[in-house]
Amino acid sequence: MSDQESTRRDPEQLLDRMETADCHYCDGDLDVGEYKDSAAILCEDCGTPAVRVW
Ligand SMILES: [Zn+2]
Repeated sequence: MSDQESTRRDPEQLLDRMETADCHYCDGDLDVGEYKDSAAILCEDCGTPAVRVW
């Protein structure tokens, strides 16, 4: 048993941390999406990946 699994990159976990964050470009809501073939947090309005907010 190990806690290491919880340290892997989990977009839903990131989204949870960003629940109060808005898109810096259009103030839209952030959601889990796909960017460059991998899971990412994206603005659901303008599609801008919010990868450097935290
Ligand atoms: Zn946006």
